[in-house]
Amino acid sequence: MAYLTQTSGGQPVLILKEGTSRSRGKEAQKNNIAAAKIIAEVVRSTLGPRGMDKMIVDSIGDITITNDGATILKEMDVEHPTAKMIVEVAKTQDDMVGDGTTTTVVFAGELLKKAEDLLDQNIHATIIVSGYRKAVQKCMEVLDKLGITVDLEDAHYTDTLKKVALTSMASKTIGTAREHFAEIAKEAVKAIAEKRGDTWIADVDNIQIVKKEGKSLQDTELIKGIILDKEAVHSDMPKRVQKAKIALVNAPLEIEKTETSAEIRIRDPAKITAFLDKETNMLKAMVEKIKKAGTTVLICQKGIDDAAQHFLAKEGILAVQRAKDSDMDKLSKATDGKITNNLDDLKPEDLGHAELVEERKIGDVKMIFIEGCKDPKAVSILIRAGLTRMMDEAERAIHDALAVAADVIEKNKIVAGGGAIEAELSKELRNYAVKVGGREQLAIEAFAESLEIIPKTLAENAGLEKIDILVALRSAHEKPKGQYMGVDVFTGKVANMYEKDVIEPLSVKEHAIKSATEAASMILRIDDVIAGGKTKAPPMPPGGYGGMPPEY
Ligand code: ADP
Ligand code: MG
Repeated sequence: MAYLTQTSGGQPVLILKEGTSRSRGKEAQKNNIAAAKIIAEVVRSTLGPRGMDKMIVDSIGDITITNDGATILKEMDVEHPTAKMIVEVAKTQDDMVGDGTTTTVVFAGELLKKAEDLLDQNIHATIIVSGYRKAVQKCMEVLDKLGITVDLEDAHYTDTLKKVALTSMASKTIGTAREHFAEIAKEAVKAIAEKRGDTWIADVDNIQIVKKEGKSLQDTELIKGIILDKEAVHSDMPKRVQKAKIALVNAPLEIEKTETSAEIRIRDPAKITAFLDKETNMLKAMVEKIKKAGTTVLICQKGIDDAAQHFLAKEGILAVQRAKDSDMDKLSKATDGKITNNLDDLKPEDLGHAELVEERKIGDVKMIFIEGCKDPKAVSILIRAGLTRMMDEAERAIHDALAVAADVIEKNKIVAGGGAIEAELSKELRNYAVKVGGREQLAIEAFAESLEIIPKTLAENAGLEKIDILVALRSAHEKPKGQYMGVDVFTGKVANMYEKDVIEPLSVKEHAIKSATEAASMILRIDDVIAGGKTKAPPMPPGGYGGMPPEY
């Protein structure tokens, strides 16, 4: 399809190359909204603890079974540009706060659905967008007021970490391991949380996740240290070192070879030995420097020469070579050791400490465990499961649990889940809409209704009558302490979610609402979609467009 227009003289003019497709105005809007709604529809049934799983089969037949919105969308091969935008929003939500992806997508879909109704009533997209913008601002104000502050100076704050972790994993198919995982997530995040000045930081990148098939989810463990996917470089080395003093070295224990190949001719046999001895002596000297600092375990980021390996083994030092850059960094944080770039600089105080360094066989591979570190600022979680698929879902569960616990550390406010916060925001927005008045009022009201898609969907997925629940929920929110009332999907009743320990980080909700609205607004503002043809158009036949009617 080529797009043609005409000059005033009636001559056809080609504006866009052939193969380009275009849709405009209402048609473009409707198409885009439809695409976004489909994406929302796909993940909708997975929302909440009673949500269902999806099985995704990729082009080479690999199967993923999950309940995780972000994963479902990542694995789906989405083509439509608007649908892709929604997928992108889910991804950002996952990157920024680590949870609430399904919520974001479902909410964005609902905002667009409600906008469609308004468009049909001839309310211009610009009005809808500005109404939505006002609604978001109001939501942020209300959220800030409703958020319950978690006192991080009080030792009991870890109970809250565990509760948010449990809530985030409510929808994961890990069965009874949930409790165990929440405990691990709590301890891991507590370990890596740091106060810098007045602000708390919890960087989950300092938590290493290692997966090994075998055993069961209950055998998943937190290591107060780091696991290296390596083995000791020499078989004569000790496999278990207690109260280890660890040297972290970023320099090769090898003799550097010259860049250009030089030929050395030695005629005297005695001199050959002397020459070789010289190399060996240099390596021996290196090992001596390491030994002198008091090292019992050496983690080297570069290679270790055979001869050096031999000397290290003789000294009873457990050594690992070619450790990963990222692992070195974590090791430094876990053992409180300093990475040395030059062996001459290695001092006893640079060494890291660990209660135990041990080579263990996990499944059929050997790994080095550096554990029992005192106050480690990097830790490791070893996930175990009988099946790879189970292990992957466990990893996603741990990922969410760690993310929400870290969210609470970085922004220490929580809200009640189970649709409670969405219902409360909805109520506040309805009151606010009346004050705004005009056409924007309709948009703000549409926004308020869209928020209710969360409790509605939670109810629906639990097989409950969503209209009944919504009516009960609205009336509960008019009463004192109403802000905590949400859908208890297990009893099928409206209940105080805060008392039921169904709590979520404030930042997850803030981010979900902001980014869903941003995406919906961006999609609403589009009134013209021009898609370039993927393949080059064939050259025009001589004679131009004779006989071809222009298409509009
Ligand atoms: P998302 O990808 O948005 O995090 P989930 O499938 O994890 O989607 O579901 C999250 C929703 O489930 C949140 O609204 C949360 O409050 C709710 N939820 C979690 N546990 C419960 C529970 N026990 N009862 C009711 N709702 C719950
Ligand atoms: Mg979740």
